[in-house]
Amino acid sequence: MVILKTAREIAAMRQAGRISAGALREAGKAVEPGVSTLEIDTIIRSYIEKQGAVPSFLGYGGFPASACISVNNVVIHGIPSAKEILKEGDIVSIDVGAYFGGYHGDNACTFPCGDISPEARNLLDTTREALYQGIQQAVAGNRLGDIGSTVQRYVEARSYSVVRDFVGHGVGAKLHEDPRVPNYGTPGRGVRLLPGMTIAIEPMVTQGTHKVRILPDKWTTVTADGKLAAHFEHTVAVTSSGPLILTLPD
Ligand code: MG
Repeated sequence: MVILKTAREIAAMRQAGRISAGALREAGKAVEPGVSTLEIDTIIRSYIEKQGAVPSFLGYGGFPASACISVNNVVIHGIPSAKEILKEGDIVSIDVGAYFGGYHGDNACTFPCGDISPEARNLLDTTREALYQGIQQAVAGNRLGDIGSTVQRYVEARSYSVVRDFVGHGVGAKLHEDPRVPNYGTPGRGVRLLPGMTIAIEPMVTQGTHKVRILPDKWTTVTADGKLAAHFEHTVAVTSSGPLILTLPD
């Protein structure tokens, strides 16, 4: 069941979203060669806790850290580790949520570590732009298929693939609410968008096949062919005056 939010609830979600965005920004500043993914996780956790919020992912379904940090061919759900040291040229997807005032904000970004290849840069630029193209479709009266098909068309026109096995989602008092928000679809199909819907739009884009594989740790999700993946996400409210991105920093 899709839970519509009042203007007051959306304002509360904006507070949670602001903290999530601040945590992501701080995490991005810390991405550089020689830093471990666990160090970045620690920065994220202390930022969120300093704001009086709680990391949404910590303990969620048993997840052992505050953020998912996914390097290179890891698409999502990478587990931060002291043993994983970032290197020049890596691309680092960081997904973080904060719970504050009864609501979650959820956002993600893929950051370059030092100088990255033109191919990796193009993948990041394409995925970020696909997210913004999708957000522009988060308009009352449209349908979910308008978001998904727009993301898919943008990505596939550039010879990349969109992951199918994982999708965006409603977000609110729970981190994952209805509806599912796929990054693929058919224009004019799917759930109709209404003012008060709050959704996480999160294209996961790969250089090669869209197929993914989950490692034996039951979290780490990698591309089936070992090629690079990128992931960008915002929490967005559908309002009568258009899409409102809730996960922007101050
Ligand atoms: Mg999400």
